[in-house]
Amino acid sequence: MVVMKSAVLQPPGTPAMPAAVPSRAPAHPACAHCLALADDPRRREPHPCLALHNTAPLVSQSAAGVPFSMLSFRCRECGTAWRLYDRANELFVSWVPEHPLVR
Ligand SMILES: [Zn+2]
Repeated sequence: MVVMKSAVLQPPGTPAMPAAVPSRAPAHPACAHCLALADDPRRREPHPCLALHNTAPLVSQSAAGVPFSMLSFRCRECGTAWRLYDRANELFVSWVPEHPLVR
């Protein structure tokens, strides 16, 4: 069922609505450092604006039983929260932002 099409019709003379803004997404755009990290999530070093949250890594296991450790960081420049996952037996780490980055 497609019923959404009719919603775009507006009476003439109505000022155009401003572009839709996602209501709960963080409005703060990610800084260049975070965008670069998102493009290269396997590098080991945090970028220079990242501050470590908890010094002790969280150690856990994935659903498949693979142990991993996780560190939390936050960017001092744009406030993006990052998690650094380091899985056992894996060559690369992975950086995962808590929310999708705003470009
Ligand atoms: Zn940033």
